[in-house]
Amino acid sequence: MQNALLAPVAALAISWLWFLARGKARGGTKRLALRGTLFAVIGGLIAAGERRGVFLRASLGFKLALLLALLTVAVGYLYLIRFCDACGRMERALKTVRCKRCQALLPLNGMTAKLRNDSTPSEQPRSARSARRKNG
Ligand SMILES: [Zn+2]
Repeated sequence: MQNALLAPVAALAISWLWFLARGKARGGTKRLALRGTLFAVIGGLIAAGERRGVFLRASLGFKLALLLALLTVAVGYLYLIRFCDACGRMERALKTVRCKRCQALLPLNGMTAKLRNDSTPSEQPRSARSARRKNG
């Protein structure tokens, strides 16, 4: 029974992840979807551990440390993974400035909808500028 359920559940999870990565939806919508997914995964992990008795003999400190570690990973993902506001493409490299699909500016990080300013000095090659200063 459980094995029969595994394949469709896995297929569903994969198509959901595909939608998050490539599907066309508004960036804000997908940001919320990613948040929901991450917290559902964490909740699922904790529930699975509970059912197997992982936490029966664990101390409160261990449980809190585990929760903190899971939350750190979740927040890290939320910060790192950005969605294009225009077409919803997922971008995991924090250095990328523009969407690879529609060339729209990407948000600064995954926690904000604020767009990167095209003229921010961080985009100019700093090494080139300092080299010029040294030579001139
Ligand atoms: Zn885009």
